[in-house]
This record gives sequence, structure tokens and C-alpha cells, in this order.
Amino acid sequence: MSYQAEYIWIDGTEPSPLVRSKTKIVATGKKPGIWGFDGSSTNQATGANSDCVLQPVFVCADPLRGEDNVLVMCEVLNVDMEPHPTNTRHACVASAERYASHEPWFGFEQEYTFLQNGRPLGWPATGFPAPQGPYYCGVGGDKMPGREIVERHTAGMLRAGLAIEGTNAEVMMGQWEFQIGILAAPECADQLWTARWLLFRVAEDFGVWATLEPKPILGDWNGAGCHTNFSTKEMRAEGGWDAIIAACEALGKNVDEHVENYGFGIEMRLTGHHETQHYSKFSYGVSDRGASVRIPWQVAKDRRGYIEDRRPNANMDPYVVSRLLVETVCGAEEGDRG
Ligand code: ADP
Ligand code: MN
Ligand code: MN
Ligand code: MN
Repeated sequence: MSYQAEYIWIDGTEPSPLVRSKTKIVATGKKPGIWGFDGSSTNQATGANSDCVLQPVFVCADPLRGEDNVLVMCEVLNVDMEPHPTNTRHACVASAERYASHEPWFGFEQEYTFLQNGRPLGWPATGFPAPQGPYYCGVGGDKMPGREIVERHTAGMLRAGLAIEGTNAEVMMGQWEFQIGILAAPECADQLWTARWLLFRVAEDFGVWATLEPKPILGDWNGAGCHTNFSTKEMRAEGGWDAIIAACEALGKNVDEHVENYGFGIEMRLTGHHETQHYSKFSYGVSDRGASVRIPWQVAKDRRGYIEDRRPNANMDPYVVSRLLVETVCGAEEGDRG
């Protein structure tokens, strides 16, 4: 007997990579091993030297095929087993190991927009739906297109054993969110990439594309972000408030490196409107959804907990974002001690 392993990886498409996958039949009792693909078809190699290596790093049940079938998230390596230039996970693992004693935790809020025929799902073929207002967490009528897809995706996440925490309809019609966490790096990012693959795959069955475009519709329509919630052991501990403020201050000293690596097209989304701070500015505040970094009210009340970096785009790479947060915040924590 054999089972199907769906190997998933991140390609080399510019400016934002795409997710790819292909199926390997594996003999029952064997684990999904190293595999390969044609990198010249994914922007990862030249035709004359096309082989790239898939190294399995995270395996979960395949909720669509069921039975013994699995999903296999992979890192891309060169044939010499060194990380491929498009492999951002490798550096994420290194920083997670370097700062493991800080016990950094993550929760990602992945926003996305359903598209059909190049238009947000449920929108009229020309013109616009009623203005924003009723859609966020809305219910009823024809206001909330895409809910069947969201339900199928959520059920799949649970069946796969992935750490989905919740879902909600977003401010723009056709835009939705799921949250994933609370997990350490790189696992939180492994799970987010797997969850994105599952979303795209489930939406396929409905003839719909779930895009991570940060600003799918210009004008008075919210963009799509991936708010990244972050904490360290110090921030979560009794009296963690000072560490929380120190984390915000550290982020304020390293604005450009973060913003430049928080997803292509970030200046289109971080306009200072639609619940964002302008990309050229940095601010933090309790309950402030117009700030770069928000401290949730419950955290302010408890004087400990986590912060929400509101800047990352929906199309950000969670390996890069989690690495930067760890390096900036944990790096500063060590500096303070040192
Ligand atoms: P909102 O929409 O109000 O910004 P959500 O409920 O969508 O908030 O998301 C909250 C996120 O905070 C979740 O992804 C959760 O994992 C994350 N989170 C909660 N506690 C922590 C923590 N201690 N460290 C890191 N992330 C956390
Ligand atoms: Mn949210
Ligand atoms: Mn949201
Ligand atoms: Mn949020």
C-alpha cells in the first residue's frame, strides 16, 4: 500500500513568491524523503542547471485527501544541500536557535481577498458595492460572499491539526481573515505557509482565487495585512510591561529594515488611513489601530503579554517577519542585560 504526500514549497517569483506543490506517492511505512523539482520553471534555476532539492521540514495530515495522506512543507536547497537563495526559512531557524532562551511566540492574522474574474468575490461586474461599514464580522443577505470557502478551509485546518485560532470577515467586502498561533518560530511560519496553500487549494474548488495582494482595490477600501503578534518570556512574565515598552522602542529604532521586508507594495497599504500608520512613521500605543504597533487593552491592564505589529502586509513572508522581530526585540533584550 502507498499514500499521497503533497510537497509544498515557496518559489522564486518576483516581487512576491508563489506557493507550488506536487504529489509524491510514498510506500506505507516510509516517511516522505528528500525530493526534487525543475527550478527553471519556478524562477529558481536556469534550464541548463535546473535541479532544486525539496527538504521536508513540516508534515501534517492532508485534510482534503484524508486517510493516511499528508501535506509536506519543504525548504528549497541547491543540489549541494546548501539553502537556495530563495530559502528564507534557513535564516529564520538560525535566529530562532540563537535567541531560543527568550522563548519568542507568534500569532499571525492572515487577511486575504477572494477574487473571481479579476474582481473581489460578490462585487458587481462594474462599479462598487455599498461602502465599507457592514462587512467586518457581518452576517446576512448577499453581504458576505465566500463564507462556504472559509468554512471549508477552517474545517480542513482543524482536521490537519494546524493551530488555527479563529476567522472573521473583514472590512472590505470579499476580504476575510484567519488567525494562526500561538507558536514559536519557525513552526508558526511553517503552519502559515501550509494554511495559505490549503486556502488556495480549497478556493480552487469554488473557482475562486484567494489573493494576498496588500491593496487589491485602490481608493476607500481597506488593504490586506498580516498583523504579527509577538511576545518574549520577559514580556509575558509578571511585570513584563517594561519589556513590552522596550520592545516597542527597539522596533522604533529599526523601522526601515522592518518595513522594507514586510511585503511588496507596503507603501500602497500603509498610507496612514484605513487603520494603518504611514510607512514613513513609527508609533505605538494602547488600543491604537492607527499606530505601527498596538498594545492590546488587556495587555495594558495585565501589565504583561504581547504586542501587535500591524505593519506586515498580507503578502509578507512569515519566515522573514518572525526573524526580524526576534533579532530586533531579543537583540535589544540582550543589550539591556549586557
Ligand atoms: P485583533 O483582530 O483584535 O488584532 P485577533 O484576535 O485577530 O486580534 O488576533 C490576536 C492574535 O494575538 C492571535 O493570533 C494570537 O495568537 C496572538 N497572541 C495572543 N497572545 C499572544 C502572545 N502572548 N504572544 C504572541 N501572540 C499572541
Ligand atoms: Mn484580527
Ligand atoms: Mn484584520
Ligand atoms: Mn489585528
